[in-house]
Amino acid sequence: MPLSVYRMARAASVDSPFDAATVEAQYPPDLELEPRHLFVDLALEIGARRAAGVVTLTVEARRAGSHVLRLDAVDLEVADVTDPQGRALTWRNDGQQLTIRWGDAFAAQEERQVAVHYAVVEPSSGLYFSQPSEAYPDMPWYAVTDHETERARHWLPCIDLPNVRTTLDIRLRAEERFTILANGYLVGEEVHGDGTKSAHWRLDQRCPSYLICFAVGEFVRADDGVFEDGEKSVPLAYFCSPQHTRDDMLRSFGRTGAMLAWMTAKLGQPFPYPKYFQWTAPGVSGAMENISLVSWDERFALDEKLAAEWTWIVDAVNVHEMAHSYFGDAVVCRDFAHAWLKESWATYIEQVYREDTVSPDEGRYVFYEHAERYFNEADNRYHRPIVNRHFQSSWDMYDAHLYPGGACRLHMLRSELGDDIFWAAVRDYLHRYNGKVVETDDFRLVMEQHSGRALGRFFDQWFYRPGYPDLALSFTHEVADGHGVLTLEQKQIDADAGIPAFVFDAEIRWRANGEWHTQPLHVEHARHTFVLPMPHAPEMIVFDPDGRLLHKLAFNPGDDLLRRQLVEGPTVLARIHAARELAASGRRPNIAAIVDAYGAEPHWGVRCVMAESLAKCNSAAAVDGLAALITVERDPLVLPVVFEAAAAYRDEAIRKAILQRLDEGIGYLATQSAYEALGAQREDAPYGLLLAAAERPGLNGIEQIGAIRGLAATRRSDALPVLLRLARYGGSSYYVRPAAVGALAALGKHVETRERDQIVDALVELLRDPVYQVAISAVRGLESMEADAAISALEAYARGKVRQEAVVARRAVVRLRKKGTPPAQLPQKELEDLRSQVRRLEAEVARLNV
Ligand SMILES: [Zn+2]
Repeated sequence: MPLSVYRMARAASVDSPFDAATVEAQYPPDLELEPRHLFVDLALEIGARRAAGVVTLTVEARRAGSHVLRLDAVDLEVADVTDPQGRALTWRNDGQQLTIRWGDAFAAQEERQVAVHYAVVEPSSGLYFSQPSEAYPDMPWYAVTDHETERARHWLPCIDLPNVRTTLDIRLRAEERFTILANGYLVGEEVHGDGTKSAHWRLDQRCPSYLICFAVGEFVRADDGVFEDGEKSVPLAYFCSPQHTRDDMLRSFGRTGAMLAWMTAKLGQPFPYPKYFQWTAPGVSGAMENISLVSWDERFALDEKLAAEWTWIVDAVNVHEMAHSYFGDAVVCRDFAHAWLKESWATYIEQVYREDTVSPDEGRYVFYEHAERYFNEADNRYHRPIVNRHFQSSWDMYDAHLYPGGACRLHMLRSELGDDIFWAAVRDYLHRYNGKVVETDDFRLVMEQHSGRALGRFFDQWFYRPGYPDLALSFTHEVADGHGVLTLEQKQIDADAGIPAFVFDAEIRWRANGEWHTQPLHVEHARHTFVLPMPHAPEMIVFDPDGRLLHKLAFNPGDDLLRRQLVEGPTVLARIHAARELAASGRRPNIAAIVDAYGAEPHWGVRCVMAESLAKCNSAAAVDGLAALITVERDPLVLPVVFEAAAAYRDEAIRKAILQRLDEGIGYLATQSAYEALGAQREDAPYGLLLAAAERPGLNGIEQIGAIRGLAATRRSDALPVLLRLARYGGSSYYVRPAAVGALAALGKHVETRERDQIVDALVELLRDPVYQVAISAVRGLESMEADAAISALEAYARGKVRQEAVVARRAVVRLRKKGTPPAQLPQKELEDLRSQVRRLEAEVARLNV
């Protein structure tokens, strides 16, 4: 990116939650007394949102002389703490920690037990209850847990950090009609004759607190046979609320067995756990890799129509969570500084899975997508090292640096070492550290042992320092001398930010007279000039066509070469680069070339990028092109992206093309994006159509959400009462309300002061909403509206919330307080008129040139 933009990114990163100058370093605690086993014995009353019983910890002394154990225990009603063997102890519960003191000290390696008798009512986090209500009669009955990163402590007395791992017994008592699931294998179920039953689950492998899980409630069960893993049979089963069906579960997760077969072979390890169960519930966020019991937001439950659009995503998440069985569950990151060893790995496995099961190009496209997600955060929010100890909340670490940013770096390591060495080393690493905790150096040393390479520089550069190579290339061909000259510049270098010139090897590939040539390039300085033997002028010339290097690239070797590359480029990455570079040129023949190439482009992902690139170039040719794309695109993975791109333009042809496709009938997600693009047509939007769709519930509210966002995009103040009603508790479904809150905030930026104030008041009220997703959507909305008036309400919200939920609100307050007078800007309306004028002029000029 240009330096000026870089500076802006750095200025924005003043708010970085990772700034070593302002944020304290975080370390794992001492473990003189280490919990080794947990026996959780609780009765659950879902209607009363209450759990009560006894948790017995088996504790081992690492050294002689210790006699104090501190457990995380937030807002637990502790009745008593006892030693089952009758030793005297005292205890104190301060609402955050439970401190237990034995009268006599432990001997080294001595084991003792301690039983905590307690109850927890309406826990603020970690354990979530649901039941039908007047406003939501369809909500299922359940009590389920979701812990990452430090939320177990809100219902379970434990040391709530990943370096403490215990084997588990979980015995839960609940109404007889409910399904009771937990980590591990089922020891037995017992019916009590009073309308309740108990189920006892046991896990023989050690488990950190964030991976402990139970799910109790009305679940529909779908058995999916067993995965035969050598001697062992691993049963597969999926569970959902009664809002979905057994068929939905098999449609969503039916590929789990095949994925397990692929993964155990790829990683050369048996599956570490006794079962693979997955459950979904409305009200749970995302997906979570709890040992042998993966949890999912019920949004991922696929009916037949959604399957066409979303199977790709569901499979990506499925294989990601499954990869955690090894990376994270069996081999545990010692503390959050090294969390990339789980998240980067699970994200990288998504790429490897596509590469192995679809095609190398599909793997490359995932690499491209991961890099883009990482760049988006790094360029717009902050740069941080992947291994990092300075964070405000451990939850902050779970960002786009950790997931896709680290995944791309793992891919580079594999490219650097070669497949044979890399995978052999990975198998050895997983085998050696199975059941243990690891840090980054453990992984590096295994890689070094297998490769014979000293990888200190690689890890320093890519994992311990921020930044990535941002490259500008230029190319000329000297016909007379028979060589090409390639110059390369690293633009990211910024000593103040600790971002250096990177040292790396890359590849340049060109085709001349129909033959491909490859030249390796070694880069270590800010600038290089490479002279390439090239007797014939190249037909195209591509940098890093296979995607071995995480980098950004500006490189236009000539429009004619790029236009050929757009069609004949050897990999998806080559064609993607051509599309983006041609669109960025803004030249009409280049944009026409993208539209022409689109129809014949075989890869869906490249077509997505083509559509997105047309959205960015603000040209009349792009508008006509996008309208044409809307008409021809039949791939359910691509169509929603084409509509999203179309939302960049207000134009009659676009509006007509979208309405035509809606009439023909399209998928849920396509409909969602189509409504948003229609809303973006403002005064020309089909307001009545959006209004009707905004009131129509459908599967998981997907289409309704599009209509609601569309209404906000019209900027019409008469949408305000509708959105206010939909955002209210009971006004729309659980799935829809957070989107309605977001839509209110979006509308709030474009209405008169009185109406804006009304929106701010509504959002402040929604901060108190019982649904977390709604409240957090209100926090983000107030921040995006720059609502200074809400600062004290946001501060109050943060005070009442657990740390990882509070940080979002605290950061919003910091930004609102900091915000000075915004720089002088053209009013939005004027800016848009100018954009349209430019497009019209461009069309005129094009006509004159013909
Ligand atoms: Zn993950």
